[in-house]
Parts: sequence; structure tokens; C-alpha cells
Amino acid sequence: MSDTHKLEPGQKVNLGEMPADGKDFHDNRKEAEKEFKELRKEFRDLQARLYAEDKRQMLIVFQAMDAGGKDGTIRVITQGVNPQGVRVASFKAPSKKELAHDFLWRIHPHAPARGMISIFNRSHYEDVLVVRVDNLVPESIWRPRYDHINNFEELLVDSKTTILKFYLHIDREEQRERFQERVDIQEKNWKFSFEDLEKRKQWDGYMAAYEEMLEKTTTTYAPWYVIPANQNWY
Ligand code: AMP
Ligand code: MG
Repeated sequence: MSDTHKLEPGQKVNLGEMPADGKDFHDNRKEAEKEFKELRKEFRDLQARLYAEDKRQMLIVFQAMDAGGKDGTIRVITQGVNPQGVRVASFKAPSKKELAHDFLWRIHPHAPARGMISIFNRSHYEDVLVVRVDNLVPESIWRPRYDHINNFEELLVDSKTTILKFYLHIDREEQRERFQERVDIQEKNWKFSFEDLEKRKQWDGYMAAYEEMLEKTTTTYAPWYVIPANQNWY
């Protein structure tokens, strides 16, 4: 795994200064796509071995702003893997029943079993992102969650889980263009929601929430990677 975009524990994060353009790291799209296919082959092979070995497991977390590319990334990386060994869990707004429990209650059952890979499309991190930005609970409730999350992830790691966390970093202009596409292209209409426009107005609030999340939950055992995501191919 390349460490180019990996954060270090204790590192200060200023997303406005972090690259969102993948083309600054790779100047040739065709070449990048070829490399990606080779890496994907390797991923399939390793996944088959992880499943056969049946001794440990992996959790991959994806977070991003709306239109950041979570769905597409998960679609392309899982292409061709043995579906018996990979689970994708998407986390939407919690149900009434889920809200009646602690915030990790609905997450834990989706943690990978031995031999498995779980991929999270959104995750327990929403509980320090949308929940914070929209004031869904008071700060006295969400602030201790950074520690709860670190402790939860430590438990998973102690139980032989490898955790990789990816924040797909797009800038505000790129998000505008992708929303516009969702309006203009019929096949993409279903992805568009007016709520997304409301959230767009809170861009700065989200950046502050993401920055603190990245700073407080980058650990040696469960690192974050900030991936420049303005170009999907990167
Ligand atoms: P999407 O990923 O586009 O299907 O949207 C899912 C929505 O669920 C997003 O707007 C998330 O912010 C929201 N969501 C996910 N987890 C939570 C949570 N714990 N509390 C409130 N909203 C959430
Ligand atoms: Mg959406």
C-alpha cells in the first residue's frame, strides 16, 4: 500500500491546502487506468487468499462529501472479487430503533468476520460529521465520540482486523460540476437530491468537521488516507 496520501498520528490537517487534484500526482490517465487494473488483479488475488486462510479480516472505510465518488470507487474496486468474501455496508440516516441505542450499535454487526472484507460506504464517522454540522446532538454528546471511535477500532484491530480509512477529497468547484451532471444527465438524476444543495451551503462547516475527524482519529493502528479525488481515474 503506497503511503503517499497517508496521514500521520498527530498531524495537523488543513484540507484547503491539501491536494484535491489527482492529476498532480499522475499525469497520464491511460497509464493510471492500466496500473489500476493491475492493482485490482492483485487485490482479487489477496482477497481470495484472505478468504481461504480464514484467520484475519479487513475493514475499508470510505468517507467523502456528496458526489465525492464513494459509490463509483466501491463499484470499480470490487469488480471481479469473489462476492462471498466481500460485504458492502452503506450507512444512511439512522432509524428510530437505531437512535435508541449508542451510535456504534448499528455499526458493529457489519464489522468483518474472519476471512472477510467489509467495505463501509459512510460509517460511524457520520456521527461526528453530519451529526455535528447539523447539531443533531449537543457537542457534549458528539465530542467524546472521537475517543469512542478510536477505542472501537482498537478492539477490531486487536481481533485481527486490518483497518484502512479513505477520505475522498474533492474541492467545492468539482462538487458543483458533479451536481450539475446529476441534473443534466437523465441516468444520473436519481442521485440528485435537494438536500445535497442544503449541505453544500454548509461546506465550510463540513471541512472543519472533516479536519478534526482526520486529526483525532488517525491512529497507528487505523490510519486515514486523504485521496485527491477531483479526477475519478486517479
Ligand atoms: P447517501 O449516501 O447519498 O445515500 O446519503 C445517506 C445520507 O444519510 C447522508 O445524507 C448522510 O449524511 C446520512 N447519514 C448517514 N449516517 C448518518 C447518521 N449517523 N446521522 C445522520 N445522518 C446520517
Ligand atoms: Mg447522496
